Amino acid sequence: MPLVNRLKKLKDDKYQLTPQRQAVFQALNDIILEHPTAEDIYARAKKYYSQIGLATVYRTLELLLELQILNPILVPKGSTRYEAAHSRHAHFVCLGCGRIIDVDKHLNQYANAVEQEAGFAVTSTSVQLFGYCADCNHQQ
Ligand SMILES: [Zn+2]
Ligand SMILES: [Zn+2]
Repeated sequence: MPLVNRLKKLKDDKYQLTPQRQAVFQALNDIILEHPTAEDIYARAKKYYSQIGLATVYRTLELLLELQILNPILVPKGSTRYEAAHSRHAHFVCLGCGRIIDVDKHLNQYANAVEQEAGFAVTSTSVQLFGYCADCNHQQ
């Protein structure tokens, strides 16, 4: 289910949609594909609700992590990044520009193979590849 629909569905459930929370949701819809940090989300949410505090942003992100609507991406340097929970995939982290790019198909195949061969159930994955993205690579 796309992120926007999952967030809308919270309204039908018991969750209170305060203006602050809605501002965070709007911000997530705008920039989630960029794998933003909490600070990025905060900066964006201010456009929708200027009085919002960083603590509120963190609390809302915590809730969305608990509900498994968002996944955290822990990078060795810098703040945690966030993305919508979706299919298993690896991340390419660019050491030049800091971009995080989804690498979609191979990890899923690998995890499926591990599950079949060993009889494990893989519930989450965390794979990061480091280097230079195509843009940064060309600049060297
Ligand atoms: Zn780059
Ligand atoms: Zn991703």
